[in-house]
Amino acid sequence: MLTELDPSWQDVEYGHALNRARPDVARILTRALEGHELGFDDGVALGSVEGDDLLALVKTADEMRRRAVGDAITYVVNRNLNFTNICFVGCAFCGFSRGPKAHDAYFHSTDKLLRKCREAVELGATEVCIQGGLPRDLNGTYYAQLLRDIHSALPELHLHAFSPMEIAHGVERTGLSLSEHLLSLKEAGLGSIPGTAAEILDNDVREELSPNKLRVERWIEIIKTAHSLGIPSTSTMMYGHTESPEHWVRHMLLLRDIQKETGGFTEFVPLGFIHTETRLFRKGNARAGHSFTEDLIVHALARVLLNGTIPNLQVSWVKLGFHGALACLQAGANDFSGTLMEESISKAAGADYGENVLPGELRALTRSIGRIPAERTTTYEIRQMFAAPDSDERLPVERMPAAGIGVGY
Ligand code: SF4
Repeated sequence: MLTELDPSWQDVEYGHALNRARPDVARILTRALEGHELGFDDGVALGSVEGDDLLALVKTADEMRRRAVGDAITYVVNRNLNFTNICFVGCAFCGFSRGPKAHDAYFHSTDKLLRKCREAVELGATEVCIQGGLPRDLNGTYYAQLLRDIHSALPELHLHAFSPMEIAHGVERTGLSLSEHLLSLKEAGLGSIPGTAAEILDNDVREELSPNKLRVERWIEIIKTAHSLGIPSTSTMMYGHTESPEHWVRHMLLLRDIQKETGGFTEFVPLGFIHTETRLFRKGNARAGHSFTEDLIVHALARVLLNGTIPNLQVSWVKLGFHGALACLQAGANDFSGTLMEESISKAAGADYGENVLPGELRALTRSIGRIPAERTTTYEIRQMFAAPDSDERLPVERMPAAGIGVGY
């Protein structure tokens, strides 16, 4: 099994890689390069490639990324705020949630959250990403009030907040219609929503992972309604648990269809399943998280299937580690995500790649693979392009395996 990039891949041009691939794989990838839209069978054929076929997929995705969005690798300076870990939903893949009486359950006060937002702004953040568990008895007006409190204190800060599951909870707790609830959040300062709680958009898989979670139809309805009201969202997919490549492809094609209709997705973010501290894994119901090969395939597949509809493909360095993130940034991805400043959800599930990264560290990592770092806003306007290295740039060496530093292949 592939565990890291083969250095011999470094100098292989995509044309040579296509020549080395099996003819059926090369044909599909050539069609993608020519701008043809790939279908389900094409995606499935690419979803389990190995050896030279995997090399061709990775190199083609990298070339399509270069043609679509150029050589910049973008990042956003942001802070995560996980305001509570109390949740009744009970997703089997979640290591983060707690019952209300657990000794380590928390619900941060608004004052504390405001303090964290102010600190973030002082450190240069342009965005806070706010998500939490779902306390059963939460006052439904809490969501809008929290946004209002932060927005009135810090109007320049982009509020990227509340997953579709939290939106659904807000609808239930307020008694408002979906549109009314979303509009109340928008009026309170909501800038965009995370397209999380997607996991795999397949009701059979969702039944295994989390029978209490919103169904596919409701996720789509919430996302499309948000987009129609001028609230953009990200899109995500969790892989590496019980699903198969067919599920990846169906999920990506569904997102592609939504994007054609609404144009509201800012990016696609594959999220590798962190298994260690989860009930799903401990009970033997899932494989042991995402493999390096899966990371490469999923990111490259997303580029070839979504190119032309969702141009921005983000790596999650928290899930992948910096080594894996750099590899996927050479397999079709073009965005490094954010600095986060603190991260609780992946950490609670067993991820160990740290809770924050400095902007200068992201820039040094970007430069280590010969690309150009650029700071962006949440909605991908470029704030600053860093053509030349600056004095803040240094690699986070203590959080990278030696072989992962500066690997350009
Ligand atoms: S993933 Fe979210 S909804 Fe599911 S148990 Fe964890 S905190 Fe609750």
